[in-house]
Amino acid sequence: VKNSGKNSHCFYSADLSKNANELFMMENHLRRALERDQLEVYYQPQVRIKDGKIIGAESLLRWRHPELGMVSPAKFIPLAEETGLILQIGEWVLRESALQASRWAHAGYDLNRVSVNVSGVQIQRSNFADTVYGVLIETDCNPRLLELEITESTVMHNTEFVISVFNRIKNLGLKLAIDDFGTGYSSLSHLKRLPLDKLKIDQSFVRELPGNADDAAIANAIHAMANSLGFNVIAEGVETEAQAAFLLDMGCEIAQGYLYSRPVTATQFTALLEAERVK
Ligand code: C2E
Ligand code: CA
Ligand code: CA
Ligand code: CA
Repeated sequence: VKNSGKNSHCFYSADLSKNANELFMMENHLRRALERDQLEVYYQPQVRIKDGKIIGAESLLRWRHPELGMVSPAKFIPLAEETGLILQIGEWVLRESALQASRWAHAGYDLNRVSVNVSGVQIQRSNFADTVYGVLIETDCNPRLLELEITESTVMHNTEFVISVFNRIKNLGLKLAIDDFGTGYSSLSHLKRLPLDKLKIDQSFVRELPGNADDAAIANAIHAMANSLGFNVIAEGVETEAQAAFLLDMGCEIAQGYLYSRPVTATQFTALLEAERVK
């Protein structure tokens, strides 16, 4: 028994050190990616369902890895959060997005705003609102061109503090949206105390519309609740005309998803805006 205990201990620690090593290597790669310009922001249109007009964009981070090709943020954001690198990366994404939003505004494109994903790790830092303010000054971006997307699970942690951060961000003039709404078990009493502009219906509830009666009921309930709290609603992950038609019928006017466009580079996004202008 003693022996096997020892073996399992050896196995365990060997495994642990390998993981620590891997984590360390990945962290170094990611840090270098940031320094070497391997990160890029893609943009996905947010669209008015009734006529397909592009009214906004969501910033989505990409890592152009020299050997692995495009690495999904789902793979490296958790690592970036664990190591704290998300603070630098998040600030970089915000700066890039602010610069791009300003470029589109100056070019005369009628885009309401660019939505930027913000990690809970960023929000929980005492100086996040200062960071946002610094980026606005540095980029000379009109804050009305920017919206921050924060996941529902983030706002349920340390709620009093989050409310104070949100109030400061709202005072700077940015909009606030709750991402992945419906997956985070937030309480209504908390929600109504948050200075929010928008709820984003999580794509897991959109995927099986209109056929899945449970999802249809959930989408409806989210929309009704948002309405009564005075928040706007957007549905994400819209891939089919049938989904879009159902959402519009239910009163949700804005959508985002492959039906309209995948996330694309800033240059490609500009071409989409240009195509609308000449239409
Ligand atoms: P998210 O914020 O929920 O973003 C939506 C994800 O759904 C994106 O994946 C997008 O490409 C994908 N998507 C868009 N339309 C469709 C569709 O019609 N069908 C399907 N199946 N998927 C669709 P992506 O770009 O891989 O990003 C994954 C997640 O990584 C994001 O989920 C977000 O949580 C995180 N992320 C991305 N960029 C950033 C960033 O700059 N900062 C932070 N903190 N997180 C980010
Ligand atoms: Ca998002
Ligand atoms: Ca989402
Ligand atoms: Ca998500």
